[in-house]
Amino acid sequence: MPELPEVETVVRDLGKRMAGRTIRSAELRRERLAPDITPSEFAERLNEASVSRVHRRGKHILIDLENGNTLIVHLRMSGRFMLLSQDDTDPKFAHAVFHLEDGSRFVFDDQRHFGLMKVVDTSRIAETKELAKLAPEPFSEEFSANYFAEQIRSSSRVLKEILLDQTKVCGVGNIYASEAMFLAGINPKKRGKALSAARCSTLHEYVKAVLMEAIDQAALIEPHPTIVGEGVYGSGSEGRWRVYDRETQPCPACGAGIRRIRQGGRSTYYCPKCQR
Ligand SMILES: [Zn+2]
Repeated sequence: MPELPEVETVVRDLGKRMAGRTIRSAELRRERLAPDITPSEFAERLNEASVSRVHRRGKHILIDLENGNTLIVHLRMSGRFMLLSQDDTDPKFAHAVFHLEDGSRFVFDDQRHFGLMKVVDTSRIAETKELAKLAPEPFSEEFSANYFAEQIRSSSRVLKEILLDQTKVCGVGNIYASEAMFLAGINPKKRGKALSAARCSTLHEYVKAVLMEAIDQAALIEPHPTIVGEGVYGSGSEGRWRVYDRETQPCPACGAGIRRIRQGGRSTYYCPKCQR
């Protein structure tokens, strides 16, 4: 599943390709992709609309239209946008299609069928159920060291679970939680309230650093001609992780074998020597 850096990369690429374009007609082909709206309402709110801005809140992609509507998209497991020309055939799982003024089209392709879309009034985005409870953005001023320490140290849950709780820390998923805890030298089994203020502050820095590093790395990759944001969750990104998905491989710092444990139903990777 794409995490915040991957979604940010899709948002930047989508913004470059989509902003200023006009959606002539929008087709919702798989109704369950947007369960709150019928295909005809979907078309009504998006047809003949120009895209003014593509941005993001957490892992939700927000496509603002000049007609006052915003299309909210969550990629979930496998959703992706493709920009196709008139000559291209649709991919197998084309669950929504946005036809543009020049005959090209954006297709939302979703092999695993977990993607979600919603159309809301742009002025009411912040009140939308999916966004209202999200913690501050990791690169915003509100996500300060003090805010982070309060969230961590007031909880008796294990650190990994707090980091994944989107109402406490927004945008950190399984990969970057493991990576940030490794760089901070903190054992993922530690409980929030047991972490000193100084160690919280270190972890806060590394949470931001691993997210930014991944965004920066993705920005160096040549954009795929068709698949929006590709280069991130396509091939090539796996090799850069320090501990994630590296069970039994040597720790990059001390050489000890990386361990994998289950926490909250998800895998956590860590070095038993470096992380205390
Ligand atoms: Zn180590």
